[in-house]
Amino acid sequence: MKRHEQIAKLDSTREFDICIIGGGATGLGIAVDAASRGCKTILLEKYDFAKGTSSRSTKLVHGGVRYLQQGNIKLVMEALKERGLLRKNAPHLVKNQSFVIPNYKWWENSFYGIGLKVYDWMAGSLGLGPSQFLNKEETIVLAPNLDQDGLRGGVLYHDGQFDDARLAIHLAMTAADHGAVILNYMGVEGLMKTNEKVCGVVTKDSISGKEYEIFAKAVINATGVFSDSIVKMDDPKAEPLISHSQGIHLVFDKGFLLSDTAIMIPRTDDGRVLFAVPWHNKIIVGTTDTPVAFSNSDAETGHALSLQKARMVEPVALKDEIDFVMQHIHRYLKKDPSYSDIRSIFAGLRPLVKSSSKITSAISRDHHISVSDSELISITGGKWTTYRKMAEDVLEIAIYKAGMSEKECVTKNLHIHGYKENNNYSAPLYYYGTDEIGINELVKKDNTLSGLIHPLLPYIKAEIVWAVQNEMCMTVEDALARRTRALLLDAKAAIESASLVANMMAIELKQDDNWIKEQIDTFNLMAKNYLPNY
Ligand SMILES: Cc1cc2nc3c(=O)[nH]c(=O)nc-3n(C[C@H](O)[C@H](O)[C@H](O)COP(=O)(O)OP(=O)(O)OC[C@H]3O[C@@H](n4cnc5c(N)ncnc54)[C@H](O)[C@@H]3O)c2cc1C
Repeated sequence: MKRHEQIAKLDSTREFDICIIGGGATGLGIAVDAASRGCKTILLEKYDFAKGTSSRSTKLVHGGVRYLQQGNIKLVMEALKERGLLRKNAPHLVKNQSFVIPNYKWWENSFYGIGLKVYDWMAGSLGLGPSQFLNKEETIVLAPNLDQDGLRGGVLYHDGQFDDARLAIHLAMTAADHGAVILNYMGVEGLMKTNEKVCGVVTKDSISGKEYEIFAKAVINATGVFSDSIVKMDDPKAEPLISHSQGIHLVFDKGFLLSDTAIMIPRTDDGRVLFAVPWHNKIIVGTTDTPVAFSNSDAETGHALSLQKARMVEPVALKDEIDFVMQHIHRYLKKDPSYSDIRSIFAGLRPLVKSSSKITSAISRDHHISVSDSELISITGGKWTTYRKMAEDVLEIAIYKAGMSEKECVTKNLHIHGYKENNNYSAPLYYYGTDEIGINELVKKDNTLSGLIHPLLPYIKAEIVWAVQNEMCMTVEDALARRTRALLLDAKAAIESASLVANMMAIELKQDDNWIKEQIDTFNLMAKNYLPNY
């Protein structure tokens, strides 16, 4: 997937069946579904693929034990089915993750144990393994760093785990493999209408500065937390569709967990769950649920970036949120991490379907599809786990509204780019699937590319070259935040590797010293948000 080839496809035609605005989980899933059904498809992403919420998740492909507690059976059933389908279609990206729920009160073992038996039963043949009641000794073997004072036992259960930004890139490549035009750094700036119906979009390539008018039979707004800005392009008086809620994660060295089993804390002070999950040899701890106010006028006008709008693009963890996660993790671990042990802090915004509830954790994670009078289709809410079903649902409507002949959805059995069976999830490049061959070939041609980009990061130089040549990696931030996950694993090490990465990319992209300096400065400024300020 090369950007200049995608631009060449766009230069050869401006007419499409389906135009998707937004290149996160939702938009990319729709692009895969549309292209694999045989629709002429284009996806336009303003920044980079998964730059928004889709690179900032807890990295779980899950039914949502919490939603079971809330009694949202439909959402859990759907998500468990999707979890199984994703594991089947992208086994190089989704692995089985075991979790322990520690129990300190007499009633917890049977309460959570029975709930998780229901979870197993709901997953049916797509289950990832049966849950199990554990005594105190068995719990300690699986989670040796758990605070053992008052520990009575635990429950073991299974969910899926993945690398969100990598799945996004592989979805983009899957859609491109099926003929879709997929473009990053291509923001939609306006909607075109004929007879008061949306018939296309105006978009600008922020790399070349060139503007395009693109015509489509159906235009789908999949811009997550930015959805209302597109809705307002259609109808300035429209009511907002979504609420925003922020969630943060802290990243620590793996030594604080001491095993490959994740810990799930079933009830935080605000009635949520908290996870400590091993990921790329670190642990991720989170998350929070903080309602965030956002003025739509910021998004709509497109004027200078206000502070709040800047926060939407790069949300920043609040001190209270960091303290909340630290306090909870301290209650459950024997060896407590200190603030200076935090390797990275990342924050994301949930696009939740608007509700009258003031508590965002109580707002449904179901997705919602709306069609405006001018036939702009907007899809909001949902989860990474359910992206495939969301795409299927919205395309049924888009195909009908566009008056196109029925085309069958094939994504239940569609392999995601890089599909590979029998993966060794501890091998360094496993998440590339079959693309690992291409990276190894780069190393064969130039052995210096086998060197690490930084002694504390698990990434080799060939991954940067691969990303620029094949994954539309255009900036140092793309390389360190989403093609590799350096920024999320160790923000300080990522900042220290920015110069090397910028210089390597400049050679590939034929850029000069000014570009290198601008890239390093921009990345370092943004990456400071990921550093603990203690
Ligand atoms: C803290 C947190 C933890 C989570 N954990 C999980 C989890 O473990 N498992 C799970 O299943 N789900 C999880 N989720 C939910 C999941 O991450 C989201 O539901 C999903 O990523 C939303 O994807 P999206 O594509 O709708 O939005 P986004 O990823 O935000 O994508 C929208 C895109 O639209 C682009 N855009 C905006 N304006 C324009 C424009 N004018 N033109 C073109 N493009 C534009 C943006 O740049 C952005 O890339 C989590 C969410 C949060 C916040």
